[in-house]
Amino acid sequence: MHYKEKQLDEVKVFKDPVHRYVRVVDQVIWDLIATPEFQRLRRIKQLGTSYLTFHGAEHSRFNHSLGVYEIVRRMVSKMEEHESWNKEERLVSLCAALLHDLGHGPFSHSFEKVLSLDHEKFTKRIILEDTHVNQVLKKVADDFPEKVAQVIEKTYSDQAVVSIISSQIDADRMDYLLRDAYYTGVSYGQFDMERILRVMRPTDEQIVIKSTGMHAVEDYIMSRYQMYWQVYFHPVTRSSEVILTKIFQRVTHLLDQGYPFKEEPKLLIPLFREPIYLADYLDVDESVILYYFQRWQTEDDAILRDLCLRFMNRNLFKYIEFDPIQDEDKLVQLQHLFLEAELDPLYYLVVDSSSDLSYDVYRPGEERVPIYLQMPSGQLKELSTHSVIVEAITGRTREDHKLYFPADAIRLINNQALQDKINELLHYR
Ligand code: ZN
Repeated sequence: MHYKEKQLDEVKVFKDPVHRYVRVVDQVIWDLIATPEFQRLRRIKQLGTSYLTFHGAEHSRFNHSLGVYEIVRRMVSKMEEHESWNKEERLVSLCAALLHDLGHGPFSHSFEKVLSLDHEKFTKRIILEDTHVNQVLKKVADDFPEKVAQVIEKTYSDQAVVSIISSQIDADRMDYLLRDAYYTGVSYGQFDMERILRVMRPTDEQIVIKSTGMHAVEDYIMSRYQMYWQVYFHPVTRSSEVILTKIFQRVTHLLDQGYPFKEEPKLLIPLFREPIYLADYLDVDESVILYYFQRWQTEDDAILRDLCLRFMNRNLFKYIEFDPIQDEDKLVQLQHLFLEAELDPLYYLVVDSSSDLSYDVYRPGEERVPIYLQMPSGQLKELSTHSVIVEAITGRTREDHKLYFPADAIRLINNQALQDKINELLHYR
């Protein structure tokens, strides 16, 4: 029997708190899970620094990847009841689901921002370059790694396959919303996934939803909206991310200056210059980053030391609302006062902005594919034309800006007049 059809002697079952069970029957999937590149995902947290706000949020990309695989496995078995679904696409769908987040680095957000890295590019490289994952995929067929990479990149020829893994209602989002709600302990991420899976229908271009399932989809869109503002963009999480970003920024600066580190970041240095070798990239996970942060709490550089102490001991920055247009002058004034107080505003006075678009219809030049309802007549209708709830948030970008600063350090400014002036501008005491 060919490797791609090879099934395990018995079904392997992972216990999962969100989907109850994750079932593996294919040898290919079992072998992929066993690769070092996939096991590495255990050491990358799904929600980055959110555990500093929601202490339960310690789950990893490994959990989430298995979850997405399980949803796609269930979706595909439902799709196979319909003629328009091509049965040949089963394995490529499962592999792409399992591997879609493979290239994530430690604390992805901040790390990528400062180092100008792109986890999607690394996902592709891990699949295509000389890795254990690539060896497993190649045993299926020589062009199989390329096909899996195309599904993840959304360039694959069968768009129905692409849409189950990434669209406005896909297995990735469904898993992370449910999983992140579970691990943070919030009550608003819930929606009826089983119902959505039952009403999904494949067409040649994408997956559509049987119109009777509209309310379950409404719930899912609202849950996404809630999770973004209550969890992902939580101001305290953003504070920890600001500090993290500033640590990476400081390290970049110190490396440029030839600063003599007591603990030199030997494992990070190869990521600061081109070309980046995959082996070096894969060596850096969150345990490595936290090791350096731990050590840097006693560095001579006062800024690096202070930021690491803050991160490790959760002594975060405070914040106030910030209007980027109205408050511009205030920001300039504060920057001067911070300099006077010997608090470098580059690291200690930070504007952070978040914005999200919960759902959108198609606009030329954008890649968002809308969600379509399949009416009893077979006709397709775009979701927001039928749902009043979805219509209300369609195309609306919500923005939020905050100004972050170390309230404790401001309290320690010796010059009382200077301290008062800063506090007055911040309206914070
Ligand atoms: Zn994902």
